[in-house]
Amino acid sequence: MARSACDRNDAEIPVKHWLPRFGLDEPNGSDDVAYTSINPYTEQIEQEFANATDAEVEQALASAHAAQLSWRETDHAERSRVLAAIADRLEADREIYAPVLTADMGKTIVEARAEVDNCVRILRWYADHAAAELAPQTRPSANYKGGHYQVVPSPLGIVYIVEPWNFPYYQIARVLAPQLAAGNTVILKHASNVPRAAAAWQQLMLDAGAPEGLFTNLFASHAQSARIIADDRVRGVALTGSEAAGAIIAGQAAAALKKSTMELGGADALIVLEDADVELAAKWAAFGRHRNSGQVCVSSKRMIVVDAVYDRFAAAYRAEVAKLVAGDPLNEQTTFAPLSSAGARTELLEQVDRAVAAGATAETVDIALPEHGWFMAPVILTDIAEDNPAYTEEFFGPVTQLYRVADEQEAVAVANSSPYGLGGSVFTADEQRGLAVGARLDTGMVSINRPSLGGADVPFGGTKRSGYGRELTELGLLEFVNLKVIGLGDING
Ligand code: NAP
Repeated sequence: MARSACDRNDAEIPVKHWLPRFGLDEPNGSDDVAYTSINPYTEQIEQEFANATDAEVEQALASAHAAQLSWRETDHAERSRVLAAIADRLEADREIYAPVLTADMGKTIVEARAEVDNCVRILRWYADHAAAELAPQTRPSANYKGGHYQVVPSPLGIVYIVEPWNFPYYQIARVLAPQLAAGNTVILKHASNVPRAAAAWQQLMLDAGAPEGLFTNLFASHAQSARIIADDRVRGVALTGSEAAGAIIAGQAAAALKKSTMELGGADALIVLEDADVELAAKWAAFGRHRNSGQVCVSSKRMIVVDAVYDRFAAAYRAEVAKLVAGDPLNEQTTFAPLSSAGARTELLEQVDRAVAAGATAETVDIALPEHGWFMAPVILTDIAEDNPAYTEEFFGPVTQLYRVADEQEAVAVANSSPYGLGGSVFTADEQRGLAVGARLDTGMVSINRPSLGGADVPFGGTKRSGYGRELTELGLLEFVNLKVIGLGDING
């Protein structure tokens, strides 16, 4: 199974050195993608799926294209009705859909239900708001007497989406909902380790009575993926995944002159200032680092703490992490799930070894782990020098980087020294100070006194190597529409 979440380059390695490791010099990538669902707790194969044939890829493109020609003419009321029907079906069948996530990638059932609920909210947000957000706007033009024009957000065509395994439904919903609302259709290539979740979403569309071709899941190889991106019927490409996949897929989209959005990795800083409620900060930091077993793009990955409260924070943080309860993810008392795959754990452990070999100190927080399942005990890394590869890497799992800094100024400098720019947070008693520090962080998102801020009605996206473009809200809606300008006014007047 292709896995690359932790096989990350660092800022010091020139691009020409790291790209070939991910096959960018072979644009068709590998064809060895195997769509297999292996339960991370039982370590047993749940289900294997056959890869798409080339004929199925062509059929999917033809069907999505035909559906879009009709869907683009469908009025907003009907598009909203379909989105609401999908939300209603998902909500009604929550107890069918949630356990699929737990079996596919190991997250706790509590987190799986929360993910289903979040998808329902996203689908409903677009059902309720898209018509107003996409309404044509009339504006004056000073170029000629009585001149004016309309900006009419118009559908584009098929949007091809490539999604990661860490939130298998949410990642679909946050692109599918705006695209359907905008009059586009969607073809999905999901991560190869969550095929049951991908198939479940296809079933959801059927059960909700959505017209055929609005959404098509394809178990595509990387070579087929490249051909889909190049196909003229595909008008936009959205990837959520690693920086490595982003470099490849953005390159393929650029070669075909197609717009893309890239939601990539992150190494979010969580800054604790001397006036913060240190114990509360430690509690939320531990949550922000370990939810979904640390496999979140906007996890709080780097705790940057000013000297005056560092020792107190470190002690409180260790104590909070030690409270995690590892166990069967289907048990509602479990708060710490296994990692998504054996490979992900191996890569993360190797990444910790590399950090230690380069001078870091690793402290394992000793929590009881079940005898089976791909669990990894939480690790806290300190003494990470700037020339340590860990300093610029994303750790996609329960590994905390803890930095001691002199003051606010140094905290901002360390936070901004990451090649990533996804999210970040600032803990302080003074909200205005938090806002001022947040304004200086070179990231797409900042949260004050909380690990991250998310939801159906909050935009999501990053900068630097975390990618470009925005998802959710009207910003996500406008990423793949043609903002068509229609001029009006009498040229003879
Ligand atoms: P990944 O290895 O990049 O995979 C993401 C998706 O890209 C998968 O569907 C994968 O399919 C596909 N892919 C990879 N290489 C490809 C290629 N050459 N051609 C076509 N498809 C390709 O990432 P991951 O390990 O699944 O996910 C973790 C990463 O995603 C982390 O870096 C995390 O921070 C990031 N992430 C970002 C956000 C955000 O919103 N910014 C959200 C969640 C996760 P295969 O499985 O077939 O390789």
